[in-house]
Amino acid sequence: MAQDPRQAAPVRWSGAAQLLEVVRSEPGITRAAAVQRLGIGSGGATELVARMRQARLLDETPAPARGRGRPTTVLGPHAHGPLVLAADLRAADWRLALAGIDGAPQVVAQDAYAGEELDVALSRLADAIGAAYRRKTKRLRAIAVSVAGTISGAKLVQFTSRGWHDVDLSVLTANIPDRAGIRLLLGNDATLAGLAESRTGAARSAATALHLIVAQGIGGALVVNGEPLAGAHGAAGEYGHIPIGDPALVCPCGARGCWDLTVDGRALARHRGDAPPDDPVGYVHDLVGRREADEATRRAFEAVAGSLGRGIGGLVNLHDPEVVTLGGVAALLRAAAPEAFDTAYRDGLMAFRKNSPPPVRDAEHAEDGPLYGAVALAMDHVTSPAGLADWVDRQFV
Ligand SMILES: [Zn+2]
Repeated sequence: MAQDPRQAAPVRWSGAAQLLEVVRSEPGITRAAAVQRLGIGSGGATELVARMRQARLLDETPAPARGRGRPTTVLGPHAHGPLVLAADLRAADWRLALAGIDGAPQVVAQDAYAGEELDVALSRLADAIGAAYRRKTKRLRAIAVSVAGTISGAKLVQFTSRGWHDVDLSVLTANIPDRAGIRLLLGNDATLAGLAESRTGAARSAATALHLIVAQGIGGALVVNGEPLAGAHGAAGEYGHIPIGDPALVCPCGARGCWDLTVDGRALARHRGDAPPDDPVGYVHDLVGRREADEATRRAFEAVAGSLGRGIGGLVNLHDPEVVTLGGVAALLRAAAPEAFDTAYRDGLMAFRKNSPPPVRDAEHAEDGPLYGAVALAMDHVTSPAGLADWVDRQFV
């Protein structure tokens, strides 16, 4: 009995979902290598790739000839394939990017908040999302938003840098018709940056990886088998609010002794006797070039790098990661006082870990980590078996 091509059952697309997972994790992979990863025979592979080309999920280009092996092709995005939007709501501005299955975000709009009220800022972003949808109507299948704040369900619970709280972010799809069936996904910036490092960055191929990011305070994510641990409400990873800092200091979050207060630009300022900086990230960048000239500044960097290393030692004892990656200004803080960092890190480790501690690497995606992570989150949704069945149903009606 012939199958109606418009009724694309998810199970029919599970092989395609697996192949897309391989192509996404190893950009530029050849068809021969991808098929080998999946362990399918050449007949099945020919049928699968042909079906995916026809469904506009993949395309092939000739691979450069190598040795005497049979010629193969490189698998990559289809010119009319699925797209996702990724938005990054940062402390002072936002960016919106479009990406295909190659996962590389292309920024299509950006703006600063410039003292605006929250509803104005969100409606500008909603306009940009609506405009991108109108340009790519049938191809756009999911939107993921990274927020430099705490997420719970569809709500932005706390956006400290702007003083915003309890905001419903579903307004961001106000200019997209419901019938389009486009999913809005939300994630914390540190969590998404951790996801990006595990999938395509400095923690690639580690089954258990810890990512930490310092901006104003410190956040992070434990990523296990490519998935960040999100918690019951998506609010896990508040590493900055573990009380391993100075118990004399009260944190704006309401707790006492938070690690947050000892590992960022605010901590450097306090050690130097400066007023709390308006822009703790800019403050670190400004100060880092002056640390050699001035003893108080050098000591401030040693204290902050030491607190960072000590806390990471504790988290390694807790989580047992294969690798730790540093994003935001964390890498800069370590580089400013590497001995203080290393000594505190090793001192914090349990004895049995000291001989082979997990490497602490600088993040590869740097400032773009949350954007790459949001693309990955949205594309996971689109390239799941159910997402692919939905794509085919909507493309070929
Ligand atoms: Zn706190």
